Amino acid sequence: MSELFDLAERVALVTGGGRGIGRACSLALASRGAFVVVNYRSGADAAQETVAAIEAAGGRAEAVQFDVSDPDAAESAVKEIAKRHGRLDILVNNAGIAIDQLLLRVKPDDLDRTFSTNVGGAIFCTKAALRTMMRAKYGRVINLGSVVGEAGNPGQSIYSASKAAIMGVTKSLAREYASRGITVNCVAPGYISTDMTADLPEAATNAIIEQTPLARVGTPEEVAAAVLFLASTEAGYITGQTLRVNGGMYV
Ligand code: NDP
Repeated sequence: MSELFDLAERVALVTGGGRGIGRACSLALASRGAFVVVNYRSGADAAQETVAAIEAAGGRAEAVQFDVSDPDAAESAVKEIAKRHGRLDILVNNAGIAIDQLLLRVKPDDLDRTFSTNVGGAIFCTKAALRTMMRAKYGRVINLGSVVGEAGNPGQSIYSASKAAIMGVTKSLAREYASRGITVNCVAPGYISTDMTADLPEAATNAIIEQTPLARVGTPEEVAAAVLFLASTEAGYITGQTLRVNGGMYV
């Protein structure tokens, strides 16, 4: 009997795949048989550790360095990955940064850095993956959004703008490439326990938990499960959607 969400023969690229939610996505995709390319920017040790964890569990993976905010570097790296493996079936645009502060303190460079990573990174990695996916008439693109892209949050005007943009990108690309067998979806996490949220004061964390019907923070694995589903063959009739993994914090 065939197994649900079987990814044997698939090649997946997870940007920022060495830490946090990206690491959990890398492990989840590899656990179903995909060869996973774990991208990192500066966290070589974490990326290598993720590859080692995948291999220890019997999976296949490699770590590849490039900065998604550099369109030329990202495009040439993604094209090289697709060429070397002869395919690229799954792209998880996970790499992201958050520069949190009140608007009164925001500088133009904060906007540039956030958008070039969170939005530009997803756009140019997807652009580079498209030709291979179109040739195969098959592709799964999953973009990481955020609850704040829909709900907003004080101190996150720029970050939330970048995540709202990702939902627009998702919808446009879903329409643009549906006829080529490529689906494009978004996973929008709520508050997930990772390095990104580690510095939040306890009072702020407790306030978030109070606003969350499931009354706890989420885990990277719970986000990765949604990504795995959307990356599967079985999710073939879902495109342009945002799947919220937020404990009911925004419905
Ligand atoms: P972390 O801060 O824990 O990890 C960020 C990851 O992104 C790292 O792997 C990092 O790589 C990578 N990265 C950052 N910039 C670049 C770049 N320019 N090029 C390549 N890789 C880069 O974040 P999370 O795991 O928490 O978040 C992952 C995604 O989920 C992000 O898009 C985030 O916005 C989103 N999200 C997270 C939520 C949360 O509560 N944690 C909530 C909602 C959305 P390296 O280690 O090499 O720097």
